[in-house]
Parts: sequence; structure tokens; C-alpha cells
Amino acid sequence: MVDFRNLDEEALKAWVVAHGEKAFRAKQLYEWIVKGVVSFDEMLNLSKAFREMLSAEGYLDNFHIVEAHTAQDGTIKVLGRLHDGNLVESVFMTYKHGHSVCVSTQVGCKMGCSFCASTIGGVTRNLTAGEYLGQIYALQALTGKRVNHVVLMGSGEPLDNYDETLRFIKLSTDERGLNLSGRSITLSTCGLADEIKKLAEEHLQITLAISLHNPFETERQTIMPITKRYSIAAVLEAVDVYIEKTGRRVTFEYALIAGVNDSDAHAEKLGQLLKGKLVHVNLIPVNAVAEKNYAPTASDKIFRFKSILSDKYKITTTIRRELGSDINAACGQLRAKHLKPNTNDIEIKNLNVFEGE
Ligand code: SAH
Repeated sequence: MVDFRNLDEEALKAWVVAHGEKAFRAKQLYEWIVKGVVSFDEMLNLSKAFREMLSAEGYLDNFHIVEAHTAQDGTIKVLGRLHDGNLVESVFMTYKHGHSVCVSTQVGCKMGCSFCASTIGGVTRNLTAGEYLGQIYALQALTGKRVNHVVLMGSGEPLDNYDETLRFIKLSTDERGLNLSGRSITLSTCGLADEIKKLAEEHLQITLAISLHNPFETERQTIMPITKRYSIAAVLEAVDVYIEKTGRRVTFEYALIAGVNDSDAHAEKLGQLLKGKLVHVNLIPVNAVAEKNYAPTASDKIFRFKSILSDKYKITTTIRRELGSDINAACGQLRAKHLKPNTNDIEIKNLNVFEGE
């Protein structure tokens, strides 16, 4: 079965022609796909025979929403079933400038960050670019709103799924497709230095975000095991290359965990590492995850941390507005509820849709 959302217009054309139809039918098919329809029956400008062939050979509904939670601030977190039955999460958020979707890139994750719920059962498989898009199509269909910003910050490590991530960036910025601007896509990574350098060569306008979370090498190793493969120095060197090649400001994400990485010494060290670079620091109070023993830093201490970075080290620093914290909107938390402890096996079979909680 073909996932039609996973084909670009050229590939659709080849498919259509190979199945005995005129090439221009691919354009019509693509327009329907981009509209986010899930049934071929809606494609009324295509013949019934062609529609029947399409549904015999492939499918559209590659992210079927099985559970949706709406937070008081309007953030919607959904759990979607992929065509093979795997479950992944996506989040829809509303900002001043429009609507944003937080896209998952893998089923689970193998990076092993100690504070993250996505990594609890390891990684099951990579998502395809079509499945990244499917999350956006499904959320646009659910909300009736057009998404104009995407963050690759759902479960998974986008640079551990490099080719599909690149293909997604190309597909979603296609002007006949979702037509996102490169600048409105943020790719967040735990710091795969080699892939960051490779990405620097792709001539993209996307925003790169680095999940740093600790400026001290041995401490970072204990919360982010990837540090043993790529040291902080290696990540910073890759970021320098990225900035030099793209001219784009890089974001550093820093989740503040009470008593773990929120001291003045951490802020000072972070300031020393990033001082003078074309970067921006985004401070995030850690989301408490039931399976983990972490609590967020108190707000007065967050402000103190911020002022060390911004006043002393002159680094642009923001504090992330927390959206959807009443609905377990942090990475992997919704899905984790449905997994047996420490596995990726889904425990419950019938899921419900909760709207307007
Ligand atoms: N693997 C990528 C993208 C997915 S995680 C990465 O590491 O960047 C997206 C962001 O959410 C990362 O910054 C990650 O560190 C952060 N995150 C994960 N669990 C969190 C939690 N419990 N509280 C706050 N941020 C968390």
C-alpha cells in the first residue's frame, strides 16, 4: 500500500502515469492531499474508477487521531495512530503570529534523556516525511486553522532520522504544498554534531535549536547520554559551523530542573560557553514527568538565571511560555500513559476522544 502523503508531486506523477492515467491527474490528486482529505471519495474531479484504484493501492489517513485533549489555553494535544498501528503525539498551539504544530519524528526515541517521557521504551521506528506532514494535515482538519509554523520537537530525534527530516522540510516548503517558509520551521536536536555540520551544507533557512540543558560535561552526561558520543565542545563547534554557513541565529534550549541544573554556577558556565555567539537561550521550566523524579525550578530562580545570562553575558534569553501543561503536553507524556511500563507496547485497545476538557 502506498502512503500518498509521502509522495511529492513528481513521484505522484510517476505513479499516476504508471497506473495508466494522464499526468495532470497528479496535480489534482496533490491538491486534495494538501487539503488534508482522508477519503478518496471526496476527490470528485477524479473519475470513480481512478478513485477506486487509488483506494485499492494506497491510503491517505496516515495519522488518525484517536485521542484529543484541549487545554484551557487552547493548546490541543492529540494521539494519532499511524497506518501500522503505532501511536505518536502531536501538539497544536496558538501564538500571536498564528498556529504552530509540534511534530513527532520517531515512534519513541533512543537518545535516553533522563527527563524525557518519549525515550522510556526506546525507539520503535522512524517516521516518514509523509507521516510528519500527516500530523499537520490532521491538526488542520481538526481545528479548521491553517498551520504556519512547525517545530520538530515532538517525540524522536529529527537528526537521527536525517533523510526523512530533510525530505519533510522540502515537502512542507513546496509552494504548491503547505507552502511553509523555511524560517517558520524549527528543528530541535539533542546535539548530533556530525549531522548538524551536514545540515549546515543544505542551504536551508530553518531555525536550529540545541537542547543543551547542562553546561558541565560530566553532569550533562548523566542527564543526556548522547554527551558521551558528542561532547559539549563538539556540539558548540558544530553550531559555530552552522552559524557560519547559514548566517542563522541558533537557539539553545535549557529545561530548568530544580536542584539539578539551575544554580548560579550553571548560569555562569552557560554564559561563558555562549558569550558573543549568534545565539538565543530559551529557558523552559521542566515539565514534571510522572515516571521521573524532577520538579521545575521556581520562577524567582528562573528570573535570576535569566538575568545572569542577559545582564552579565549579554545573551538574548527568553523564558518559554508554558502551554498545555494541564494536559500532559510535554514530549511523550500522553503516549507514555498508554504503554506498559518500560516498553513500547500499547496497553489499551480502545481509545477515546476527549474534547474541550
Ligand atoms: N530530540 C530532540 C527533539 C525532541 S525533544 C531534542 O532533544 O531536542 C524537544 C524538547 O523538549 C527538547 O529540548 C527536550 O530536551 C525537551 N524536553 C523533553 N522532556 C522535557 C521535559 N520533561 N520538560 C521540558 N522539556 C523537555
